[in-house]
Amino acid sequence: MKKITIAIDGHSSCGKSTMAKDLAREIGYIYIDSGAMYRAVTYYCLQHDLFTEDNVKLEELQAAMPDIRISFKLNEQTGRPDTYLNGECIEGEIRGMAVSSRVSLIATIGFVREAMVALQQEMGKEKGIVMDGRDIGTTVFPDAELKIFVTASAEVRAQRRYDELRAKGDEASYESILENVKERDRIDSGRAVSPLRKADDAIELDNSHMTIPEQKAWLMEKFNSCTI
Ligand code: C5P
Repeated sequence: MKKITIAIDGHSSCGKSTMAKDLAREIGYIYIDSGAMYRAVTYYCLQHDLFTEDNVKLEELQAAMPDIRISFKLNEQTGRPDTYLNGECIEGEIRGMAVSSRVSLIATIGFVREAMVALQQEMGKEKGIVMDGRDIGTTVFPDAELKIFVTASAEVRAQRRYDELRAKGDEASYESILENVKERDRIDSGRAVSPLRKADDAIELDNSHMTIPEQKAWLMEKFNSCTI
């Protein structure tokens, strides 16, 4: 069967990655979490003291870009890819609030986006890929055969992120998570370079009131109708 490119975009914490990972596993495609790449750059900045009180040391970050090598490796235990920065697994570190509260700022920087988009396009050049993010259907793979735009209310998304963090023993409060979700929506949709928006040819999915199996079935149907 011919392989296609699948772009899944949408707001923060709307379950895109769960959907994308499950679909990729089911159909034997590669899954790439593009948000993890912006998170890895953010983690690098935290590690190298590249944040000022309310901004980033841009010149230093630009000079450091060639030293930021991001890759993914399948974790045999979880069956999902882990994110690596310069050979070190940082999958746990990039999911906490320290990175979440700064990542959207990093994602507004033009030279960071340029480097990430080039890497994403390289990873997807053979097709047979499911990539999730904010600009996959609009900028990274504008010719993707299947584009999905996922959304859900901010409250539903904050509750999901809260449950996820609590399950990992992270004590973040629901209010701070809701604030973070809304703030990221604001920055992601308002930025000058590749703002979050639905591609004209993307299919919209509001999953506020859907279960994971329901979403899975919905997505499989879209995939099947694209490949026959
Ligand atoms: O998907 P996730 O929430 O992990 O992404 C983290 C952040 O990275 C987003 O809030 C957004 O600011 C940024 N991002 C982006 N473009 C992408 C993927 C993520 O700007 N393709």
